[in-house]
Amino acid sequence: MKNLSNSLSDIEMLEDQEEIYKRQAAILKKGWDRFITKHKTKNGSILDVIVSVRAIELENRPYLYTTFHDITVEKKYERQLIEVKTELERQKIFITSLLDEQPNMMLLTDGKTSSFMNKAALKYFKCKSLSEFIERYNCISHQFVSNDMYFHLGKVQDEPNWIEALLKLSQDRHIVTIQSLSDEIIRAFNVSVREFNNNYLVNFTDISETIVKQRNLEDKTIHDKLTKAYNREYFEQNIQTILAQNKTIAFAMVDIDHFKNINDTYGHDVGDKVLKELVKVLKDFSRKEDILIRWGGEEFLLLLKVDDKVTLTKILEHIRKAIENYKFTIVNKVTCSFGAVLHNPSHPWQITFKSADVALYDAKNSGRNKVVLC
Ligand code: GH3
Ligand code: MG
Ligand code: MG
Repeated sequence: MKNLSNSLSDIEMLEDQEEIYKRQAAILKKGWDRFITKHKTKNGSILDVIVSVRAIELENRPYLYTTFHDITVEKKYERQLIEVKTELERQKIFITSLLDEQPNMMLLTDGKTSSFMNKAALKYFKCKSLSEFIERYNCISHQFVSNDMYFHLGKVQDEPNWIEALLKLSQDRHIVTIQSLSDEIIRAFNVSVREFNNNYLVNFTDISETIVKQRNLEDKTIHDKLTKAYNREYFEQNIQTILAQNKTIAFAMVDIDHFKNINDTYGHDVGDKVLKELVKVLKDFSRKEDILIRWGGEEFLLLLKVDDKVTLTKILEHIRKAIENYKFTIVNKVTCSFGAVLHNPSHPWQITFKSADVALYDAKNSGRNKVVLC
């Protein structure tokens, strides 16, 4: 029996003779066999061989017809392939453990289903495994909170998946909010995406603290420092939107009566305290949807969402009396005069404002602590 390079005399079977006899007997019984074994050549090298054996009969005598096929090269490649696969597996374990160590949520996805989620991500969604996450939530994008300020599924239009929709936006808009299922807190994340192995590696960086700071800063720019009522900056930034969103709105100017006397009698600090207390009363006795702006000094603008003059008068009288009856610290009694007008949408706000100011002037001139409508 020969293969390409060896004759039978060149090779030595490595199994012991006892084993070979046993195998032969079994083949004679079964009729055939096929197995892989090793042979040693004369020069000492080891060959991998497929041995195919068939029992045949010639002139009433049993023979074993045997072919040997040298598969040393194939086996070598197979071993190399196994080594490469093992190495890849080792690398995969290394990468996943590296990603698992990250405090940020990270996942591998095709934009529809995740093929990997790190420990931080699984913990955020209170899941023990990726399959549990997929079964419960399908895709992480389903957990993005629908908030106009940030990215969510409602903003995906013609794009095949949420990642492609997100990537169309500028980097500063790659922000999503997600509620943690561990502590129920909604956090804001900056989402960064990298292509990785025909998938996307997505990283969620928690930026909630930065956003809160930014919001506080914005708050400071639109609120009066002393009273915390809105300031003129807020009014200027928002008046057009407020008018567009409200078909009917009233402008009411509120001015403290004889405030100069309070300052003169009790000092500026007490005057400041009165301003703060007045804002508290104005907020407590106006409605949630009304907007209070400190226009300057001891003058406030109240924007009220009302349809008619009767309701407007009723609300303002209610507030006026509340101030009159409130016991202010040290000074005890403080009153305010009110000048109000319903905004005519065909006029610019400046006209309405002027009318409210004229009405306030009338309230002052007719004895103060009064509501006058124009
Ligand atoms: P009227 O009833 O006509 O409104 O009289 P008034 O004294 O309230 O009005 P006037 O305009 O004569 O005086 C307003 C005073 O408010 C003068 C100013 O010093 C004081 N004022 C303005 N801003 C502040 C502030 O932030 N704190 C304090 N304590 N006083 C202020
Ligand atoms: Mg005044
Ligand atoms: Mg004034």
